[in-house]
Amino acid sequence: MLPQNYSTLCQKINKRKLQSISVEQTIKKYVLQYNINYLPDIDAYDIHIIDITERKIAEEKVRRLAFYHQVTNLPNQYKLNDDLVSEITRQKEFSLGVFSIRNFNKLVTAYGVEVSNVLVDKFCDHLKTTLPDELLLYHLNENQFALIYRGKNDELSLQLIAKKIIYIAEKPLITLYGEFFIELDFGFCLYPTHGEDKNRLIKNAFSALSVAHANQHEYFSLFCTEVEYEIFRNTNMIDDLRNAVVKNELFLVFQPQLNLAQQEITGIETLVRWKREGSIISPAEFIPLAEQSGLIVPIGQWILEQACRFTKELVSLGHADIVVAVNVSPRQFSHPDFLKLVLQTLKDTKLNAKNLELEITEGVFMHNEEMTLCVLNQLKKNGIQLSIDDFGTGYSSLSYLKRFPIDKLKIDQSFVKNCHTNDEDKAIISTIVALGKNLNLTIIAEGVEELAHVDFLKSIHCDEIQGYWYSKPLEQDRLIAFMANAAIENIN
Ligand code: C2E
Ligand code: MG
Ligand code: MG
Repeated sequence: MLPQNYSTLCQKINKRKLQSISVEQTIKKYVLQYNINYLPDIDAYDIHIIDITERKIAEEKVRRLAFYHQVTNLPNQYKLNDDLVSEITRQKEFSLGVFSIRNFNKLVTAYGVEVSNVLVDKFCDHLKTTLPDELLLYHLNENQFALIYRGKNDELSLQLIAKKIIYIAEKPLITLYGEFFIELDFGFCLYPTHGEDKNRLIKNAFSALSVAHANQHEYFSLFCTEVEYEIFRNTNMIDDLRNAVVKNELFLVFQPQLNLAQQEITGIETLVRWKREGSIISPAEFIPLAEQSGLIVPIGQWILEQACRFTKELVSLGHADIVVAVNVSPRQFSHPDFLKLVLQTLKDTKLNAKNLELEITEGVFMHNEEMTLCVLNQLKKNGIQLSIDDFGTGYSSLSYLKRFPIDKLKIDQSFVKNCHTNDEDKAIISTIVALGKNLNLTIIAEGVEELAHVDFLKSIHCDEIQGYWYSKPLEQDRLIAFMANAAIENIN
């Protein structure tokens, strides 16, 4: 059978003085390749026809493998890259969104990879059938998706799109393994306002996503330059923090804790400081970054070692019963070697376990209760004291206090601040103190700044106080002097 437009093709050969021409044509379910050669000696055409159907099917398969997600059949990140380049070439406004399933790792841990894949597949089926055509949807990796939107390029329209997708996600996903609900976070950026090349657009959409991700109550974030600056600053800080220990930039201060009845220093809290390029950075700023990057594990270990070493020195100076409190972050606590490292540190520094207290926050209880209980029991069994820091600000639950071997509650400073004037704060503190007494716990109030605070806390029989009223956090030498003075005053 001759190819379609056979005479036009022959004319083309003659006009352009070509020797041959090759065309592909689809006839029914076959793809045929026609090679037409001109034979000038006899002024005739020689046609070779090859059936390339199989090759074409194989090529399409490879293209699908390369450009489509294998589980959900949605276009993948390579297709997104290509499409972004095409969109940018059009030079018309569009938006790039990325969204991810919240707590996906928890889903995988709870139900396994297979169930999570089925879940994602179901969700994508819903998306494919519901989303408008002007939205191009991509499946980047297990729980991450992207979309290109050519419609109105403003925040409200993008929020509406996000809501539409959330509406789909909120419908129960019925699988063989049961009914599931998923939550999503969205990050968007606009072309050309937030970037003129694909890499920058992708990076900025993900920056926006990380903001939505970090905020439990926000599901949507549109990129802005402040976000970019914040992320840049944090990344820089994490890089510097990596070397802070080696460069001797971290140091410790210790804040005395006063027993109100005996008027004696019973403990000191270890607080870390970072001297970075000449200025002191608050731990409230860098500890969350250390936690986020995992650096808290080596840094926390360094702090523990230094604190134990210094306390051993205090013990040998005659403060035999002094207890050093060390803050432990949730990520540090959940490290598999945590217990081993604490015990090894006590051994290495020759500090008695009764002189060490670990401060944990209520957040620690939220992850893996059984493991937490097991580690706490082991610490307790070895004679280490345990306290709950910032008590009242987290997910306090009475059942934790009953089940976990806690010695001490630290009332958060936010309640103490106005306890001399605000009746609600007064009531909260009185309740915590009464509760603690019933459970045989020691109660310490943090952030005690004024005599009026002290008077109120004494009146309700709070055991201990810590705060600027008694002493600011002190460096080692000054603390030694402060403790020596306090001991002399007590004798007199
Ligand atoms: P935190 O453990 O609750 O520590 C108490 C914070 O209150 C300290 O702030 C302390 O300096 C401050 N403070 C003490 N007395 C007063 C007062 O009378 N008034 C006011 N306004 N503040 C007072 P800092 O040192 O800035 O530490 C902030 C937080 O950073 C700590 O809160 C703790 O959560 C974390 N942190 C500090 N050092 C470490 C550490 O070595 N490891 C870990 N994981 N976290 C640490
Ligand atoms: Mg603390
Ligand atoms: Mg605290």
